Amino acid sequence: MDLRIGHLYPDLMSIYGDRGNVIALSQRAAWRGIDVETRTFTAGEARFDPDWADVYFFGGGQDQGQDLVGADLAGPNGDALRRSIAGGAAVFSVCGGYQLLGKEYVPDTGEPIPGLGVLDVTTRAGKVRFVGNLLCETDDGKMLIGFENHSGYTYLGPLAKPLGRVIAGHGNNGTDKTEGAVQGRLIGCYLHGSALPKNPWLADQLISWGLARRHGAVDLAPLDDTDEDAARAQAAEVAKTRT
Ligand code: GLN
Repeated sequence: MDLRIGHLYPDLMSIYGDRGNVIALSQRAAWRGIDVETRTFTAGEARFDPDWADVYFFGGGQDQGQDLVGADLAGPNGDALRRSIAGGAAVFSVCGGYQLLGKEYVPDTGEPIPGLGVLDVTTRAGKVRFVGNLLCETDDGKMLIGFENHSGYTYLGPLAKPLGRVIAGHGNNGTDKTEGAVQGRLIGCYLHGSALPKNPWLADQLISWGLARRHGAVDLAPLDDTDEDAARAQAAEVAKTRT
């Protein structure tokens, strides 16, 4: 069995340790004896192969880098990604990547940046940049910890549901107490850090979705997550002290 990971725009969209999410996906699959290949896809390349990746990672970036990525997504590479997602590929996205999976990102200065439009969210620049530890809880009681640093405020449409409820920090927009978005096999969030090493259950969910694309449902063998769980618990305590 093998897993194909597509790392989207790593040269433009991989800030605040986001590359660690690709490492976490790759390592947690390899620890289970799954063969892993990672390929990068970035602006200006020939048309992405829409049939290759099982799961993508799309990280965070500055407004400046996002306009370059938005322009690339407006062309054949965006069409290829939409086709890949329609074919069952999963996506984990953080901050800038999350914003660009949505309908559009309207930065504080410059023109609105059209998104891929596969996630029913819209982002507009806010007056206050949200920076700090971010802790949220999913509907089924799982905790997620990370670090947020964004001025974009994201609002969900009816087709997307929140990834979690904010416990500490600001999350999507600092108002509706939601964090992130889930729609099919697409996940967006504001959890930098990187997120997946400290939230191994989410990494395993993405690996399962990725494997299902070509191999069908797979039961992943459990791993010893003692250290990962301890890291999340410790970071969660720090986050709860955030005023
Ligand atoms: N430039 C976007 C914002 O400020 C995304 C930032 C990021 O990816 N950390 O909201």
